[in-house]
Order: sequence, then C-alpha cells, then structure tokens
Amino acid sequence: MSSVMKPTAASQYVDGHDFRMLIGGELVGADADSTRSVVDPSTGETLTSIPEAGTDDVDRAVAAAHRAREPWEALGVAGRTACFEHFGELIRENRERLAMLDALDCGNPVTAMRADIDLCHEYLDGWPALMKAMPGQVYPSDAGGLHYSAHRPYGVVGRITAFNHPAMFAITRSLPALITGNTVVLKPSEETSLSTLALGELFREAFPPGVVNVVTGGAATGDAIVTHRQIKRLAFTGSVNTGLLIQRRAAESGRVKHVSLELGGKNAMVVFPDMDVDLAVEGALRGMNLDICQGQACGSNSRILVHARVYDEFVARAAERLGQYRVGVAYDESTDIGPLVSAAHLSRVSGYIDSGREEGATLVRGGTRPSGLPDAGNYVEPALFADVTPTMRIAREEIFGPVLSVFVWDDYDRMIAHANELDLGLTASVWTNDLALAHRTADALDAGYVWINDSSRHYFGTPFGGYKNSSLGREESAEELSSYLEQKVVHTRLPDPHRSLARILGEQ
Ligand code: NAD
Repeated sequence: MSSVMKPTAASQYVDGHDFRMLIGGELVGADADSTRSVVDPSTGETLTSIPEAGTDDVDRAVAAAHRAREPWEALGVAGRTACFEHFGELIRENRERLAMLDALDCGNPVTAMRADIDLCHEYLDGWPALMKAMPGQVYPSDAGGLHYSAHRPYGVVGRITAFNHPAMFAITRSLPALITGNTVVLKPSEETSLSTLALGELFREAFPPGVVNVVTGGAATGDAIVTHRQIKRLAFTGSVNTGLLIQRRAAESGRVKHVSLELGGKNAMVVFPDMDVDLAVEGALRGMNLDICQGQACGSNSRILVHARVYDEFVARAAERLGQYRVGVAYDESTDIGPLVSAAHLSRVSGYIDSGREEGATLVRGGTRPSGLPDAGNYVEPALFADVTPTMRIAREEIFGPVLSVFVWDDYDRMIAHANELDLGLTASVWTNDLALAHRTADALDAGYVWINDSSRHYFGTPFGGYKNSSLGREESAEELSSYLEQKVVHTRLPDPHRSLARILGEQ
C-alpha cells in the first residue's frame, strides 16, 4: 500500500497542539527556538515538532528544581502523597490521550499503551506506602552512646529515560525521586517525547512549580544534565553504550555523582524437557513483549535455550503461534504488533535478521515486511530463528526488536555456561515442573531477576535490575528509595546519668 493512512481518533491529540517543556512551573519552548520533528512510525508522516533544549534551558530547569527543593522536602511524605494522589486523578482523566500519543509517537499498540497507563497507578499508590514504611536505623554503640541514622534527599535528580515505554517511564521513573523529597529534571527519549510533554501539563497542575521539570532533546541535552554541577544524583534508563558514556561524562564534570543505570539485556529462557511445551511457548511469546512494544524491551527473553527432547515441538508451536499475531498501524484497535520506533531502528533490526541468515541460522518464519501497510511505516513480521549457535551475532548482541533465537541443548553444564557467557545479565527464566531443579538453575544463572515458570511480569516492591553490564542499582523497591536518600549518622555521647541527676537536683 503506498497511500498513507491518516490517523483519525489519534490525530486530535496532536493537530493544533503546541508541545512545550515544563520549566519552573511554566510551559515553554527552547530558549533558542530549536525544534525537532516528530515522525509517526506507522506512516512515516511528520506529526508535529518538539523543543530541542540547549544548555541554557537545562540550566534554567536545574535552577528551578534547586529553588523548589527545600519547600518540597518540608512538605513531608503526607504532603507529597497528596500531590501523587492529585497527579493520579489527572492521569486517569488523560488515559486515552497519553495512550494515543504513545501509539502515534512510539508505534506501540494503543491497547498495550492503555495498559501501561493503568499500571502506573500501582506505582503511584505503591511508592508513598513504601516510603511511609521505611524504617529508621539505630546502631549498636558502647555504653553511654547512641548512634542513629537520618536520611535526606540529594536535591535535584537528573532523570533520563529510554524510548520504549514513554509515558509509563516518565511517570513511574520519576516517582521514587519525588516521594523521597528530591526535585526532578526529566528528559525522555528524543524519539518518543510527546506523552512526556503532555504529562508536563499534568505535573504542572499536581506539583508545586519547579518540583518536576521536563526538558526534551537528544544526546547534547542529556549530556547537559549529566555534567551539571548542581546535580549529584543521576538515574538513567537506556543502552549500555550510553550508560558507560554517562558514567565517564559524570566523572569528567569534576563532581562525584551517584549514578544508577538500567541498561540492556540479552536474556536467557531455559526450557527443560518435562515442561508442557504449549505453556513454555506462551511464556516465551509473552516474555518477548511482542504485543506490548514489538520486542523492544530490556527484559525480553531473546535467547531461548530448549532441551533437545522438546526442541522440534517448541519451534513448530512457536512458529504457529507467531503467525497469529497481527502486525499493523499502532492506533488500530486490532493491532497486536505495531511498527518499530524509527526507520533507523528498523534498518538495524533488519541487519540482524540478515546476519542470522548469513551465519547459518534457520529463519523459520517472519523477518520480512508485511503487505498491506503504509510503505513508509517501520514494519517487520516477528522473526523466529532456529539452529542458532552461540557465536552468531543474533546470539550475542541485544537486537531490541521482534527477533527470537532458539538454541538446542542436551548437556546441563554446557547450557548454563552458554547462558552466562555474555556481558549482560538482566533477566532470565526457567521452565520446569521440578522445583529443586528450578531453584538450582535460577541460582546458577547470572541475572538479577529470574522467573520460574513465568516471564515478563514485574512485581512492585521486588528489586528489579541486572548483573554485569545490565545495571547499576535496583529499581521498584525499598532499595531504590534508599538510593535517592543520603544517609547521615548521628553519634551522641550521653553524659553519666548520676552527674546529670546531681546537677538537676542542685547537688555538687
Ligand atoms: P539510548 O541509550 O539510545 O537512549 C536513552 C536515553 O539517553 C535517551 O533519552 C537519549 O536521548 C539519552 N542519551 C543519548 N545519548 C546521551 C548522552 N551522551 N548523554 C546523556 N543522555 C544521552 O537508549 P534507547 O534506544 O532509548 O533505549 C534502548 C535501550 O534501553 C536498550 O538497550 C534497552 O535494553 C534499554 N532499556 C533498559 C531498561 C531497563 O530497565 N533495564 C528499560 C528500557 C530500556
């Protein structure tokens, strides 16, 4: 199809709308009037433009956040929770707008983006509850002493996010910094900023001026946040390469910074021969997050290690099930898998599919462009590779797209060694009915988050993060709250009670 399908229900959220950043409680453009075009990945059509913040804009945002930090901290947890509740109401009212903006801008199916928005309420309710339950700490001391710790927010937090869950990241990834009394300068991915800019309008209504600031732009804007001397706490979600660069640039700013990183994954799913193959296939497909974000997810189980006894059945069943997914325009209600985020990313993913074929893996299904969709959209049928071997590029590098690689194994120790051989270790999953084997294998896998007979789901309150190059720090848990607080230990030397008593009673 060569003609472009015009978004109908969706375009009302973009047409005639001026997307502005939020700095110090004001909705503003970039100081230098710089902008960046926003392209609809479903059609290739230019939708609108967004501000491209320069160093001056970031400076203003940090200054506003710095001014807002003392009154925000002084509000206490109860006052901050009231703002969270107001924000939650605004998100409910704007659910459709935010979901449609993510479908338009990112290409994720609108049905999945509604679910993303709904999920945010778990975090909006969860963080205040976790914060209220945070215990203080008293340390053992010698007789006559008292040692306890107090916690204080860092101040201004720089929060940079990835493109794949735009609204959900903008909402949920700012909350732990805020509930602990920090103020935030938030930068979404330049690929998918529309819903975050719309959220800026809601942050403005629900929070005091300067508490949340939204700036948009690419690497240079992010670098201005990373190197800003008034930001001590940085939190980043994105690729390993950018994460490494951020650590280096943070150090080059001449300031010691607390940097937390949520980075890439090339996650192993291990299937034992006692497992019901249908269940394992459903787990694999859910674990790929195909019908949420086209497999563009850090936790996706893109390396599937299946025991030889059930391998053929697994591959055949997975191919059949993948054929049932409908690839289509993101804001069409019947679409399961939308377009990839950009033409550049489609070309990158297609390059991996070509390399899989060239290196001798069997492309069982998919990997091609589906017919009947707009020519300039970034569509690809989900690809299933069998006969993948550990040295192939599709076996070693994060593709961040709808590409599943299936490996066969029959030796347990070699399989574990293979699962653990990469520099990444975000998630893993183990599929067997034998509980002892499941736990032994979960223990043996080098990953920060392991599911047994499950995949993809996050459970708020449990620490999420990875081993090796996948992460630094843990999110979604009390550990993350602590990471936004500086600890101060107070040592008190208590005088001899007999001397105090004598003084109070007027005895010498
Ligand atoms: P990316 O690294 O290209 O960009 C992420 C963010 O960093 C964007 O906002 C971008 O503008 C910004 N950025 C780029 N260069 C910068 C620089 N020099 N200084 C400061 N900021 C800079 O990643 P992406 O393509 O948006 O996202 C995909 C990656 O994110 C994948 O590797 C994926 O696994 C990872 N990811 C991880 C998690 C997790 O929780 N572990 C979640 C989602 C995505």
